[in-house]
Amino acid sequence: MKNFSYVKAGSLAQAIKALSGKGAWLHAGGTDLLGCIHDDIIPVEKVVSISSLTNLKGISSGSGGSMKIGALTPVADIAANASLAAKCAVLVQAAAAVGSPQIRQQGTIGGNLCQRPRCWYFRSEFECRKKGGSTCYAMAGENQYHAIFGGGPCFFVHPSDIAVALSAAQAQLVVAGSSGNKVVKIEEFFVSPKDAILKENVLSKGEVLTEIRIPAVAGDVKSSYRKVRARGAWDFALASVATVLQFENETVRTARVVLGGVAPYPWQVDAVAKVLEGKQINGELAAEAGEAAASGAMPLRDNAYKVELVKGAVEESIAAFI
Ligand SMILES: Cc1cc2nc3c(=O)[nH]c(=O)nc-3n(C[C@H](O)[C@H](O)[C@H](O)COP(=O)(O)OP(=O)(O)OC[C@H]3O[C@@H](n4cnc5c(N)ncnc54)[C@H](O)[C@@H]3O)c2cc1C
Repeated sequence: MKNFSYVKAGSLAQAIKALSGKGAWLHAGGTDLLGCIHDDIIPVEKVVSISSLTNLKGISSGSGGSMKIGALTPVADIAANASLAAKCAVLVQAAAAVGSPQIRQQGTIGGNLCQRPRCWYFRSEFECRKKGGSTCYAMAGENQYHAIFGGGPCFFVHPSDIAVALSAAQAQLVVAGSSGNKVVKIEEFFVSPKDAILKENVLSKGEVLTEIRIPAVAGDVKSSYRKVRARGAWDFALASVATVLQFENETVRTARVVLGGVAPYPWQVDAVAKVLEGKQINGELAAEAGEAAASGAMPLRDNAYKVELVKGAVEESIAAFI
């Protein structure tokens, strides 16, 4: 393992300044960062811990029924929060599906959104495209866990359950940097490998994600998160679906459906919204939604099974609202 220096930031301003230096990496709970350092997949020279910035931790109500979550809030606190469960079930269910109790206790929501890909070529000694090389080894290699949507030139899938749920909930993210704060819509936060292969989100050097805002949605809103994984715990999604439906007299007025585990960023499927909006849910409509969710999939050699997983997960998620 490489040597690196360590800074424990006493304030957000101090963290931002320290992070502007070459080779500086932010440390929140460390559950992902320390693995990346240990496996020598990031060029670290300095670790800047924000773990003592307690003002970045906590869940509170905002105006008009919205909610605010500090970036340092442990995933476990989100999974156990009753107000969030009432207002944004999709997020609480996704948080509860993350890793294991230990990971949820130590891992923060900010770190969960900014964690690095789990592609086994990226996480090992291969000089792959994501590390600046010229080959995506997954394309012709062992690609059973890789992307069926939005892949190329790199085919990793985004590992975060919470990113998928927050995308369905249309969250906004507050980002602090040397020139102040900005608010980024979640659908503009994650980037495609086609646009920026070396990173997964729009954060620039020295920027810190400080807060997640969940807008209030009026009326009869129901939501859910469904995750399919190989093991019952301690495992990333093979496929997942986050659904937020707004009803009016049992008819779906608006639908937002986002897939996880199948693309390099949360994959919003407008085709499913089109199937659902203006209709009452029944078994046939749920099956139609499942088919629509898989449209446009481009599986690799070993991951065509994910197409069927997506169909089934979406059908079951929608049918559960009947
Ligand atoms: C065994 C295991 C199983 C897991 N299973 C799942 C799973 O099923 N589902 C899932 O979603 N996740 C899973 N994870 C990932 C886990 O949820 C994340 O590792 C954790 O949430 C990261 O939070 P952290 O505070 O420890 O982040 P850190 O490890 O401290 O940081 C992670 C990355 O994010 C950056 N970062 C952290 N906070 C910020 C911030 N506020 N602003 C800008 N950049 C930031 C860091 O620089 C680093 O690159 C698993 C992890 C492990 C080790």
